Amino acid sequence: MGALRLILADQLSESIAALQGLDKAQDTVMLCEVMEEASYVPHHPKKIAFLFSAMRHFAAELEAQGVRVRYVTLNDAENTGSFTSEAERAVKALGVSRLIVTEPGEYRVREMIKNWAATLGIPVEILPDTRFLATHEEFAAWAKGKKQLRMEFFYREMRKKYAILMEPDNKPTGGEWNYDKENRKPPKAGMASPPRMAHKKSAITKDVLALVKERFSHHFGTLEPFHYAVTRRQALLELDHFIRRLLPEFGDYQDAMVAGEPYLYHSLISSYLNAGLLLPLEICQKAEAAYRAGTVPLNAAEGFIRQILGWREYIRGIYWHFMPEYGQRNSLNATRPLPDFYWGAPTGMFCVAETVRHTRDHAYSHHIQRLMITGNFALLAGLDVTAVQEWYLAVYSDAYEWVEMPNTLGMALFGDGGVVASKPYAASGKYIHRMSNYCEKCTYDPDVMTGENACPFNALYWDFLVRHEDKFRGNQRMPYMFSTWDRFAPEKQQAIRVHAATTFKKMAEGAL
Ligand SMILES: Cc1cc2nc3c(=O)[nH]c(=O)nc-3n(C[C@H](O)[C@H](O)[C@H](O)COP(=O)(O)OP(=O)(O)OC[C@H]3O[C@@H](n4cnc5c(N)ncnc54)[C@H](O)[C@@H]3O)c2cc1C
Ligand code: SF4
Repeated sequence: MGALRLILADQLSESIAALQGLDKAQDTVMLCEVMEEASYVPHHPKKIAFLFSAMRHFAAELEAQGVRVRYVTLNDAENTGSFTSEAERAVKALGVSRLIVTEPGEYRVREMIKNWAATLGIPVEILPDTRFLATHEEFAAWAKGKKQLRMEFFYREMRKKYAILMEPDNKPTGGEWNYDKENRKPPKAGMASPPRMAHKKSAITKDVLALVKERFSHHFGTLEPFHYAVTRRQALLELDHFIRRLLPEFGDYQDAMVAGEPYLYHSLISSYLNAGLLLPLEICQKAEAAYRAGTVPLNAAEGFIRQILGWREYIRGIYWHFMPEYGQRNSLNATRPLPDFYWGAPTGMFCVAETVRHTRDHAYSHHIQRLMITGNFALLAGLDVTAVQEWYLAVYSDAYEWVEMPNTLGMALFGDGGVVASKPYAASGKYIHRMSNYCEKCTYDPDVMTGENACPFNALYWDFLVRHEDKFRGNQRMPYMFSTWDRFAPEKQQAIRVHAATTFKKMAEGAL
């Protein structure tokens, strides 16, 4: 009797642990599209279409290599709708001796699978996900005894472990670990990003698009045009295009935001990487090779590599290190309902409307839009942390709880009490004005603090600091903010707080 090897939607790599040692004569590989997973939050239609199409292509590639595949489509009349019931159905139908699966990316799913041995009556092996570059044990050993878990120091360990941008004397290439001081430039006037790749739709993708249109049109987000890569070959083309055409400018304009330009110099690879079509180490090695070949400057290569070797691995480490308690945190007691403009209702705030537009059309917005526009607004306004996390999990095609939660709850909302961020990423309209051309198109004025046309971010920024003064006044990275507030005349302070209250009222009335 063979094994049933279950591959989840974000495990589409031939090197995945559950496929190693596969016996083609005996084993069956199973993939299933289940309603429970597709609808536990209202995922963006593009995200569902991308994953179903990538799963179907992956299954077809395995079959072409002579692997026996049990693929259950969403519209299969026999589909029972959940992983557990589909695993039960397969075990009965195939009479397999054991089930092998790679550790899921989400705590919820791992807990569910842990119960399967009892439910299915066969041994269930949950293998470590070796695609990640730091194991849970390595992260725990690094974190042990540390008062603060700063990404920068974790990242240095990872650079050494994988010998990425390292010199033979064990020193970082160029002498520095981090070249961010050369990055983060505001956008140039008239800046537009080079053209991006668009992939032709296969028959599989066309079928999936019809299915998603029929079943998920009520979810937020537009399904077409649909240009996503859905195979490893296409994802590699995307990566190569990025490294050749865009990486040289990635560092400089990493934080810039330009109206009508959702992508600028960002790589757009997170969906492919998180689903398994690309692997983190190969990406870092290609970026390093481009630097060594002289086609990419060091600040860009290092900045990009840090996102993957540093931030991505660190975020995953934080998730597994602190779950399940992490998911319950709400250190700033943020409970205000999510305004409808997160779901596309009109708002006069151009920066928010533009970010939501990009999200709706592409299931994508870049890091600074996520952090400093929608995330910053949610932080300043004290929006409910669960509702905000559900929004991020639903609307982005790269979103899985292990990566979305620490980024949203920790980095954007400071809801974890300062594990990920040493101070809140709170900013007024001044920052958005400096890093984008959004304010030129806005009904509000970033230079005005109170009154009808005042940028809402301004009063909310000060109001946020004062509301949480007990937590932040002693923060060593925030003395400048509080000394500025202290220098404001009492009448000015009062006017700001009154304007913030008016802003909250307008938000509740849908008039912001
Ligand atoms: C509130 C919030 C929510 C987020 N939710 C997600 C999410 O659900 N899924 C997700 O993959 N990323 C998430 N991020 C991180 C980051 O915004 C996205 O990875 C990035 O925007 C993806 O676009 P890109 O591929 O063009 O990235 P680039 O800007 O080109 O960066 C290259 C790669 O680095 C990695 N990376 C960069 N920053 C991070 C980070 N903070 N955490 C993890 N990986 C990172 C990604 O794999 C990304 O593809 C979130 C960030 C914030 C602030
Ligand atoms: S003025 Fe304020 S609300 Fe308008 S785009 Fe600028 S930062 Fe956003």
